[in-house]
Amino acid sequence: MNETELKIRTIGDPVLRKKTKPVKQVTAEHKRMLSLMSRLMYESSGIGLAAPQVGLDISMIVVDIGKGLYKLINPRIVKKEGRQAIEEGCLSCPGISVKVKRAKKVTVQALDEDGRPVVVDAENMLACVMQHEIDHLLGKLIVDYVPMWKKALLGKKIKNL
Ligand SMILES: [Zn+2]
Repeated sequence: MNETELKIRTIGDPVLRKKTKPVKQVTAEHKRMLSLMSRLMYESSGIGLAAPQVGLDISMIVVDIGKGLYKLINPRIVKKEGRQAIEEGCLSCPGISVKVKRAKKVTVQALDEDGRPVVVDAENMLACVMQHEIDHLLGKLIVDYVPMWKKALLGKKIKNL
């Protein structure tokens, strides 16, 4: 994977709809890709980025809501609590924002960039972003949370799903 190939894929690109494969063994290449993804996230003023968004069919995400960078491999939600609804945007869905109902608190199990198990307890905005990025790994996008009637109003913007 070449640095110059890393660019943000937008809605309509089939890679965004693919369910990613879990990483069996974490290598230096995964670590390198996580760094490149973080760099691209910061350059794009994003607060999270999942591997499918840069065309990689791999279970990896990066998240930074301004309180530190998380680089997670095979992230999985093991506990959910409460409810919240935050207006969300997505680098892969330019110009679209959707209020998504999600859990207010989540516990995420994952591997870090060196392959060590980590547990992240997230709440509020961080919990929201974790759930959003993990959705990407399952091929799910914020537009999937839009009710049918509203989809009709959004019309053209999301026609190419
Ligand atoms: Zn997104």
